[in-house]
Amino acid sequence: MTVATDFYIDGAWTAPAAANPFDVINPATEEPYTQISMGGGADVDRAVAAAKRAFETWGYTTPEERAEYLTKLIEVYESRADEMAKAISQEMGAPMTLATTAQAAAGVGHLKSFLRAMKAFPWEHPLHEKQPNEYIVHEPIGVAGLITPWNWPMNQVALKVGAAMAAGCTMVLKPSEIAPMSSMLFAEFVDAAGIPAGVFNLVNGDGPTVGQAMSAHPDIDTMSLTGSARAGIAVTKTSADTIKRVSLELGGKGANIVFADSTIEKSVKRGAIHCFNNTGQSCNAPTRMLVEQSVYDDAVEIARAAAEATHVGDPMEEGRHIGPLVSQMQFDKVQGLIQAGMDEGARLVAGGTGRPEGVNRGYFVRPTVFADVTNEMTIAREEIFGPVLSLIPFEDEEHAVEIANDTNYGLTAYVQSDDQARAQRIARRLRSGMVQMNGAGRPGGSPFGGYKQSGNGREGGYWGILDFLEVKAISGWDSDA
Ligand code: NAD
Repeated sequence: MTVATDFYIDGAWTAPAAANPFDVINPATEEPYTQISMGGGADVDRAVAAAKRAFETWGYTTPEERAEYLTKLIEVYESRADEMAKAISQEMGAPMTLATTAQAAAGVGHLKSFLRAMKAFPWEHPLHEKQPNEYIVHEPIGVAGLITPWNWPMNQVALKVGAAMAAGCTMVLKPSEIAPMSSMLFAEFVDAAGIPAGVFNLVNGDGPTVGQAMSAHPDIDTMSLTGSARAGIAVTKTSADTIKRVSLELGGKGANIVFADSTIEKSVKRGAIHCFNNTGQSCNAPTRMLVEQSVYDDAVEIARAAAEATHVGDPMEEGRHIGPLVSQMQFDKVQGLIQAGMDEGARLVAGGTGRPEGVNRGYFVRPTVFADVTNEMTIAREEIFGPVLSLIPFEDEEHAVEIANDTNYGLTAYVQSDDQARAQRIARRLRSGMVQMNGAGRPGGSPFGGYKQSGNGREGGYWGILDFLEVKAISGWDSDA
């Protein structure tokens, strides 16, 4: 077993203040394969002090200078993308094809979007043409505390680190303790790219210890967290004592509204596959499929076939199969929710509790479809974070919108209809930060974030950079004006 017990602080790999080793588990084998350290307040103090020092220079670099560093980081990342995909697959169980083409690729894709956005960003400008004397300047907020989850580990890290670097912030990253190895590799990329010491620091640890020490720290100016509502609330409360800005990207319970006028075979199959992708561990997964009554029975059969055709297998192998869930805790949670679906009277159409046939180790679960789900059932309300799809019938447009919006979340919603005017009408009424229609993908740099309890930030491109900036108004800028 290898060890990775150091932290990356002030441009160097540094031993933790106190030894506190922690096993990192491969979810496909349930075996530990490496160890990290769980940090504490003293480690956070050191990392924040380094970030604060570095801000004195990095915070005053020009966007052009920062763009050069970001370009170098992208070069290193691209040259070592294979290593990144393997690290992600091993730590959280994404099959190699997904880990390469989506998980690792998303990281570098976001960095490129930030590079593009920072070149076009309106860093400073007069208030408007009649007020040249009033000058608006966007400046980095200072030291950023970044906390990320395990489900799309490099996607989240790049969304935060790339934006913070582009903005001119320095930072301390605490990746998920369950999937920390992709971030450790990313720290190597930062080092190899020659990013100045102290700009990027990494401390491993758990949320209640390191995450809370960061939120409470008087020298951290802004917190950005992606994770559960529970963690988001904790960080917000702790950050309140020092009036930190807090940016949150939390969970989702996406509705996918399927109208009878869409090509049912295609839209249902696509929705089911999307729900199962990454073993259902995506905040934007379309987990509630709302289907127009007239095609509901057909949709149930198509979803059943899609679940039965979804192969569950070894993440180290290439292919379109799905891997295990990330942890024993996640496995137990998903089993409990599938059981709740059955207990509350939903009709089990495919899958169910237990591991797939022939599998006796690893956190593998069965792609599961429930029909006749009502929006009050636990499986329709709670984020399951497993490959579990719920089908809910609806009568008409009004009814579909009502069910779709009846959730505490508001991250991504989906609409399937060949009537473009109807699709657009519905999209405007959905209370979610993103709406994807008829299978359209999201281009890099588009704002990612949610309404309601899905969070309050927007990540990616221009909006991602904006989250790490202060705005200064300087009056009397042009004395000739
Ligand atoms: P989690 O909340 O358990 O952990 C996320 C991160 O927060 C981890 O680094 C964890 O150590 C830290 N954390 C936990 N408790 C904390 C506390 N009290 N103070 C400070 N930090 C704390 O979530 P998870 O299980 O790792 O990730 C899954 C969740 O993330 C899901 O709810 C999912 O929907 C959400 N998610 C959201 C998005 C998005 O952009 N909206 C993207 C991916 C995942």
